Amino acid sequence: MNLPQTFKIRMKNMLGQEYDDFERALEEKDIFSGVRVFRAKNGAREAVLHAAGELSPVPWCGAGYYADKSVLSGKHPYHAAGLFYFQEPSAMAAVEALDIQKHDYVLDLCAAPGGKATQAADYLSGTGLLVANEIDRRRSFALAENIERFGITNALVTNETPERLAERFEGFFDKIIVDAPCSGEGMFRKEPQAVSQWSEEYTRVCAERDKEIADCAVRMLRAGGKMVYSTCTFAPCEDEGIAEYILNTYMDMTLLPISHLSMLSPGCGDYIGSPRDFSAARRIFPHKQNGEGHFIALFEKSGGVCGREKKDIRELKTDILPYREFEKNTLKNIINGNFVLFGDELYRLPNGINSIDGLRVVRAGLHMGTYKKGRFEPSHALALALSPTGVQRCLDFPHNSIEMQKYMRGEILPCDAVLSGWTLVSADGFSIGWGKASGGTLKNHFPKYLRI
Ligand code: SAM
Repeated sequence: MNLPQTFKIRMKNMLGQEYDDFERALEEKDIFSGVRVFRAKNGAREAVLHAAGELSPVPWCGAGYYADKSVLSGKHPYHAAGLFYFQEPSAMAAVEALDIQKHDYVLDLCAAPGGKATQAADYLSGTGLLVANEIDRRRSFALAENIERFGITNALVTNETPERLAERFEGFFDKIIVDAPCSGEGMFRKEPQAVSQWSEEYTRVCAERDKEIADCAVRMLRAGGKMVYSTCTFAPCEDEGIAEYILNTYMDMTLLPISHLSMLSPGCGDYIGSPRDFSAARRIFPHKQNGEGHFIALFEKSGGVCGREKKDIRELKTDILPYREFEKNTLKNIINGNFVLFGDELYRLPNGINSIDGLRVVRAGLHMGTYKKGRFEPSHALALALSPTGVQRCLDFPHNSIEMQKYMRGEILPCDAVLSGWTLVSADGFSIGWGKASGGTLKNHFPKYLRI
């Protein structure tokens, strides 16, 4: 790897005698890859470990394991069923620091493609609220797809600037994740083109942008709320430099220790020439930990407003009769909530959000389905949000069966002639999509964009 000279000099200054080990790690070690299991789905961990064999755990994430795509592929039915997410192990640490509790209102401000957002949703386990925001339109679609894959029902996916979100959600969130767009030095091994794009000037440009993002994030944090700031760069101006900016600018923000991530390296004020103690922040260096470069700082806000409106959930006056008809014939239980129609698309807004007017929304909670000629057609998202015990008809196949392969290829399947209507299809008891049974065959409704 042809490391830029200015990068080398700066890293030598930071690491001193350790520098040679650091450079050797960048040159020699393999890239660390990982999977994170989605614990909110009962039995997901056991199923994934059974399919993958023995995997080493990631020390700083209870749901994380070292594994690459040769061990578990993106074509595995468990991937489509949202049992696991491919995530670089270091990227699993920030959400672990945040101590997300059920019923929290959580914002992931820079969320695509959704590694940290789905990890936060795992902790919420269907309670509270997750707002997953991504400024880049194209990337926001990938984010929405991942939110859908995990059957997450309490998430609003937005495509907003941090400034516009801050106007809307002042003092609103209990927990905020700022996984900042950065110079990506920690990804040099994974994405070698990042080396050629790198310059010291670029790290400063990123740092200026990250100050603006941090300003918006702090505004949206309620009094007593916590915020995690993370990057995948070693550049001190983007790491301790932003932490120092936050502490200098906002007197009600304090840096918190992250006790359960003590296996990671401490942050360091010397890196930015500051007398402040940054040892509460955490760093991951590839020569010291089994992960790519990362920085994590956890803050708490003591003052500020609480901008949460405690409104009751109300059923909006949306025509949901065709849905109710489908529900009566297909589900075992009634789904209640704030339903909204966008054209022919029916959504159920997450709790805590009564209106999305004026926001650029990519996914307004749970996409229930589409009205087609007066009938209701359930969405793929609804299939993934339901469990086989919640429906009147389910066809379950082993994940490694011919039938499951055929289903994921989009083929028609034979079924019992008495089976009629919308039928959930599952792999080893994990919902994976819809089929429609009629006259002894199951018409395949696994989305075309997911077919193998
Ligand atoms: N948190 C994501 C995950 O775990 O999958 C990765 C986020 S990535 C490190 C940073 C994201 O910030 C990118 O998706 C990028 O599009 C977005 N971004 C770029 N400029 C931004 C800005 N000015 N404000 C907010 N987000 C921005």
